[in-house]
Amino acid sequence: MTKLLFFVLLGVAAVAWFKSRGGPRRDLGKSKPSEVEDMVRCQVCGINLPRSEAILGRGRIYCCDEHRRQDQG
Ligand SMILES: [Zn+2]
Repeated sequence: MTKLLFFVLLGVAAVAWFKSRGGPRRDLGKSKPSEVEDMVRCQVCGINLPRSEAILGRGRIYCCDEHRRQDQG
């Protein structure tokens, strides 16, 4: 009888150990993706575009190189 109890306790301990290992998994996907990118506006045509796609020139922002040249000569 005590042998059975021992195995039961062993089983419970094993499950508890297993859960504690697998439980608090690192939430890698939890860091929220920055899908909302900073939007900027072209100085020439006024179109909104993500900052990463913008053309910068003399502290001003443009949607394309053509508009940059158009504005700055
Ligand atoms: Zn533009």
